[in-house]
Amino acid sequence: MTRTALEARELTAGYGGTPAVHGLDLTVHAGEVLALLGANGAGKTTTLLALSGELPPLAGSVAVLGDGRRRRLHQRARQGLGFLTEERCVFMQLTGWQNLKIGRGRPERALDYFPELEPHLGKKVGLLSGGQQQMLALGRILAARPRVLLADELSLGLAPLVVDRLLAAIRQAADAGVAVVLVEQHVRQALAVADHVHVLRRGRVVLSGPAAELRDDAERIAATYLSEN
Ligand code: ATP
Repeated sequence: MTRTALEARELTAGYGGTPAVHGLDLTVHAGEVLALLGANGAGKTTTLLALSGELPPLAGSVAVLGDGRRRRLHQRARQGLGFLTEERCVFMQLTGWQNLKIGRGRPERALDYFPELEPHLGKKVGLLSGGQQQMLALGRILAARPRVLLADELSLGLAPLVVDRLLAAIRQAADAGVAVVLVEQHVRQALAVADHVHVLRRGRVVLSGPAAELRDDAERIAATYLSEN
């Protein structure tokens, strides 16, 4: 039996009372990855902000682990929600270990996902590569053993091999029971690790389905939905 970890119903969210996302429905079970695809400005980040509690919905509801009350991000974090935001959240003047200790989890658990980080953890993070910094940011969140993970464009500007490592860690977390919403621009790689896909256009879901059925359509999806808004 799969458990619903994250659910949005008729979710409308935006800025200054103007919706950027309209009437969105989504369900993510424990152990599943939902890929949220779409062009710049389609509403992906707004969706994650509303799911996380960072942005109060204009209408509709969000339930995390069965709790559908209005909650702020810090409350959701205590309930087991991890949010990897678009800004790679690491402290450049601190070492890798110090960064991991700031998280809610046991620092060494990050190495279950990214063992290659170990030789670098004594260095200041500002000296690490962009890919290593992102592994550290994701590893810190995963070390806290979240039950729901929201990841916003974690591969932005990173080399393909690093993207593969990050997405493999996302899959590994899901296989351990985490419910994941993955916002991605890389359609093919996202479809490779996702279970389900929602494609957003102008704040609405315009295509939805099992990732396995859409994998052969990656190029068409990218050309149709990601090249313009
Ligand atoms: P991107 O890949 O560029 O991050 P996205 O799909 O995540 O795109 P959003 O960032 O959710 O899209 O933006 C959706 C819409 O909301 C866009 O029209 C954008 O201009 C608008 N928007 C985003 N952030 C704000 C804000 N802080 N204030 C006002 N409008 C915003």
